[in-house]
Amino acid sequence: MNMLNKEIKRILEKSKKWGWVLEPDAKRILSLCGFQTPRYAVAKKPDEAIAAARKIGYPVVVKIVSPEIIHKSDVKGVVVGIKDDKLLVAVLEKFRKLPGFAGMLIDEMATGVELFIGAKNDLQFGPIILLGFGGVGVEIYKDVSLRMAPLNKDNVESMMKELKAYPLLIGYRGSKPANIAVVQSTLIRFSKLMMDMQDYFDSVDLNPVMCNEKSCTVVDARIMLKD
Ligand code: ADP
Ligand code: MG
Repeated sequence: MNMLNKEIKRILEKSKKWGWVLEPDAKRILSLCGFQTPRYAVAKKPDEAIAAARKIGYPVVVKIVSPEIIHKSDVKGVVVGIKDDKLLVAVLEKFRKLPGFAGMLIDEMATGVELFIGAKNDLQFGPIILLGFGGVGVEIYKDVSLRMAPLNKDNVESMMKELKAYPLLIGYRGSKPANIAVVQSTLIRFSKLMMDMQDYFDSVDLNPVMCNEKSCTVVDARIMLKD
């Protein structure tokens, strides 16, 4: 069965005018498809932001939402560990001055090893799935494994083991291990979604996906659309 329901198609269609899917919309799509995301809300005004952050529970992470800002950290558009109303409102005031301000995303804080799960929609081969360790390290270490979608359990296992940093995933020198079964099922679900979304996307970055002993949470998602 195709994972794209009416709501997902509506989000993809409305996002075409920007060429990409804004983070809150991308999180909505992923959560509709069974991925775990942090609890989140979008606010434009201080009172809305305070209500949302209290409901989610401090500390929270806040991020700029703007169709003009793709790399949020580059413009100081991500603040982690916001612990009270005062700081929350101060950051909101800063975000409001950023180009194209469309709101402030308020995220529950996730923990775990940061993975990168991506897809590139190749003209010849269709969706290619990428796996690596997340954050800035992605570009520095070039430690990435890739396979053509759709992925099965064996593909996913060999993809993980191929990474030089694989020991980090299973717990290296006291670092906490990720739940390998959940990493696997997340990758397989992702590959299925990319197959179903083939007609729409150019590339997708889930960076990072934070994986701990219990779960894998997609904390950032960027879907670049075909033009
Ligand atoms: P960017 O657009 O710069 O990639 P991200 O949403 O990936 O922005 O946020 C930057 C970093 O902030 C992430 O790599 C992650 O370390 C941290 N971060 C973002 N959201 C969360 C969250 N919900 N919980 C914990 N850490 C987060
Ligand atoms: Mg990111």
